[in-house]
Amino acid sequence: MCLIKQNIEQIRKLLPSDITLIAVSKTKPTDDIMQAYQVGHRIFGENKAQEMKVKQAILPKDIEWHFIGHLQDNKVKYIAEYVTMIHSVDSLKLLSSINKYAIKYSRTIDCLFEINISNEDSKFGLSEDEVEQILQSEEYKSLANIRICGVMGIGSITDDREQTRKEFKNLKNIFDNLKQQYFIDKDYFKEISMGMTGDWDIAVEEGATMVRIGSKIFGKRNVSKIIANVILDSI
Ligand SMILES: *Cc1c(COP(=O)(O)O)cnc(C)c1O
Repeated sequence: MCLIKQNIEQIRKLLPSDITLIAVSKTKPTDDIMQAYQVGHRIFGENKAQEMKVKQAILPKDIEWHFIGHLQDNKVKYIAEYVTMIHSVDSLKLLSSINKYAIKYSRTIDCLFEINISNEDSKFGLSEDEVEQILQSEEYKSLANIRICGVMGIGSITDDREQTRKEFKNLKNIFDNLKQQYFIDKDYFKEISMGMTGDWDIAVEEGATMVRIGSKIFGKRNVSKIIANVILDSI
């Protein structure tokens, strides 16, 4: 049996059944995605809008596409028609743009607020205060075609598992506060997207409802290809 299939089945065995596994297929060819598809996997994550669009056009239509990377307002158009969830909302401006395209396609788009939980300042994401400012704004209240379903965070790149645990505990806390203050009667506000190949087990212990796993399923990513994507994206 092929390695991708084995990897998926191995993770499934380890993962509690109520946790959503997002197979992060960024930079990987559609053949690799089909390997996972053939063992029944349907949920994939991408971090580049154009790459997701190309793959979505080619692949079976029962795949759920989750967008997990930094998203520019002007790229929402590549994913708005079909995306299942956008995990990386980090501004009101982006949320407005998502709402605009959701209206265009007569749908409601599920979103998560990306919270900056790592101690590295290079990462994207909002503070809890910034999320509250958005939630209290008149503009947010007027956005009828988006639905905030929870929060997402990326742990620091570190071997210090206690540091990672602290960051995930913090994200769970922020989720609980927001739930209590703004979403107590909203059943759909229930998702905590945290944990990747190196730290998903800690994330699960700390309350993750969705984990985003790439290299443990598809193998190491080709760095030169990532650089090519970045260049393509910036022109
Ligand atoms: C690439 C990526 C992942 C998956 O990373 P792995 O370490 O390969 O599992 C998860 N989340 C985000 C936001 C990513 O960009």
